Amino acid sequence: MTPSVKDRTFLVLGLGRSGCAAGALLRRHGARVIGADDADVTSVQRRWRNEDLEELAESAFDQLEVGGAWTAVAAGDLHAVVLSPGVPPDNPGLVALRAAGVPVHGELEWAARFCGGRVVAVTGTNGKSTTTAWIAHVLETAGVPSSALGNLGRPFSMEADILPEAAVPVVECSSFQLETIDTFRPAVGVVLNLAPDHLDRYEDLAAYYAAKARLAANVADDGFFVTWSGCTEALTWDHGGRRLLFGADEEGSQAWLGDGYVRVRHGDTIRDLVAVQDLALQSPPNLLNATAVAAAVLPLVADLDAVAEGLRSFRGLAHRHQLVGRLGDVRFVNDTKATNVHAVCAGLDGYPSPVVLIAGGSGKGEDYSPLAGVMSAVRHVVTMGQEGPAIAAALAGVVPTSAASGLAEAVAIAARLAAPDATVLLSPACASFDMFRNYRERGEAFAAAARDLGAREV
Ligand code: ADP
Repeated sequence: MTPSVKDRTFLVLGLGRSGCAAGALLRRHGARVIGADDADVTSVQRRWRNEDLEELAESAFDQLEVGGAWTAVAAGDLHAVVLSPGVPPDNPGLVALRAAGVPVHGELEWAARFCGGRVVAVTGTNGKSTTTAWIAHVLETAGVPSSALGNLGRPFSMEADILPEAAVPVVECSSFQLETIDTFRPAVGVVLNLAPDHLDRYEDLAAYYAAKARLAANVADDGFFVTWSGCTEALTWDHGGRRLLFGADEEGSQAWLGDGYVRVRHGDTIRDLVAVQDLALQSPPNLLNATAVAAAVLPLVADLDAVAEGLRSFRGLAHRHQLVGRLGDVRFVNDTKATNVHAVCAGLDGYPSPVVLIAGGSGKGEDYSPLAGVMSAVRHVVTMGQEGPAIAAALAGVVPTSAASGLAEAVAIAARLAAPDATVLLSPACASFDMFRNYRERGEAFAAAARDLGAREV
């Protein structure tokens, strides 16, 4: 049932994309919304301009309290606080409002309260956006109206209350958003994998995993908890609904890779759903993601031919192992979205051609030593950014490294070092904020630098 928010006052804390989307959702239903942020008005407006949010922001707030002024808003005047994922839970103003008894939930929880139908929720350390978009694509292919929402750039709040009744939205959930879910009960909850990440925000790994575990716990009683058979951590979790596994092996799994096929268990039979060679996405992590997609949609779609067609016809997302240029036979591949060590390792393990790797950026408190274990295809590593020296240190004696002063120089060095059949791969293992506004800008700068060297776009 849609919550009654008419004439109630909400404080939306954090004025980025999801804060603006949450404000607009609440105002569509008659609430009064105060937009709040610690940043000053100039920075907030710059962010709206840069991220194309001006129109959405215009519809989202009755009042703005920025630059810390929001801490003067009386707790007694507020019905609830809607928290944006970027705001740390120990923000002092937020702690004070909580202590005064004001309920605090994230944008995801509020969006879910306005969504009447079934929802697929996807989390994990890596592969969330790809898998979210892939599941939505398969559902659409099978005639189930769907939409890929959440962390991948289109907050759930933008569509939660206006979806057609039969729609099954697929929502990518970050650990930050999951920290404050309560009544959100997905029909299918997917946990892809778990590895160290965001250790700059969490006290320790256990706290990060605990945020992810909330998704499993909240799966609807008649729903499905879908997870990777190799994820030893998630296998120990309490969960709602029935558990379905996906992975490399058959045993106990609903979907797995066998003899060159994505295979599924359907009732009492085993079916070869799609040949791996027919998938557009061929990297090892994406083959695993294909099994996750198959397991997640099986409870929702009866037509397995349509599922197979949806798996085959998905082309992938930009900035994740995306081929952006060729110079002779040298390929330039943009994996700027690999912002942690786990993503880089998964992508490099079994890489089919020699690689010159470009890595580095701003750090998230990670240990880079696992990179040394996946260097078999890598001939040289060009490092850059704040973490460049730490990455070079972790690879000392394993593979030669060179330091570049910036991305354009890194691409030039890498192109010079690349053998004729090699791949120049940007897979940074780091965030981008020391050099770029975001990972997308870094990916675009990589493609532009390749073009400047004469690489042809593909
Ligand atoms: P997320 O939304 O979780 O950040 P993306 O789909 O944007 O995930 O991919 C992020 C990075 O993780 C990319 O480098 C991608 O190649 C890599 N990746 C994708 N799927 C997996 C997986 N199953 N395991 C490990 N890494 C993966």
